[in-house]
This record gives sequence, C-alpha cells and structure tokens, in this order.
Amino acid sequence: MAEAKNNPREKKQPERLCMGCNEKRPKKELIRIVRTPEGTIELDFTGKKSGRGAYLCHDAHCLKKIRKSGRLARMLESPIPEEVWDSLEEELTLDG
Ligand SMILES: [Zn+2]
Repeated sequence: MAEAKNNPREKKQPERLCMGCNEKRPKKELIRIVRTPEGTIELDFTGKKSGRGAYLCHDAHCLKKIRKSGRLARMLESPIPEEVWDSLEEELTLDG
C-alpha cells in the first residue's frame, strides 16, 4: 500500500505546462492568462474564467521568454496588450 499512485482515492493535482520553461507544474502554482470569449486578454487567478488559456509559472525569466518570443500571443491567437504584461510583471515582482 506504499505506492500512492495505485490509490484511486488519491486526488491527483492537475498539472499544466509553463509556456516559458516548458515544465509541468501544479496548476495552482501557475498564472493563467486567458482570452475571454469577448476577445480580451485577462489574468485569471481563479482558474475558472472561460476562454482559451495559457499558463506561466511565477518566474520573471519565463515571463521575459514568452514576451520576447511572442509565444503567448500565438497561443491565445491575439495580441497581448501592454497592460497585461504590466500586470504580469507586477504579479511576479510581488511574488518575490
Ligand atoms: Zn516557467
């Protein structure tokens, strides 16, 4: 009974890929960026907003990477407004 993965009662943490470093992390450790059905780009701290989403870990390097590469815009199929980058940067800075 030592193998946790064989326990069907164990709640598996959902994991998502960070677009910066391409590493899998628990969803709650990632920032979700979502393109809403209205076509706006928003940060989603609840993980519940509907729309096409992308994930980023709390790492300024990952943010720089996706900003430079334009990967986020491609992923969300929409240009990313300056203020979204600003709030992301703020978020990562606050996180320390
Ligand atoms: Zn990352």
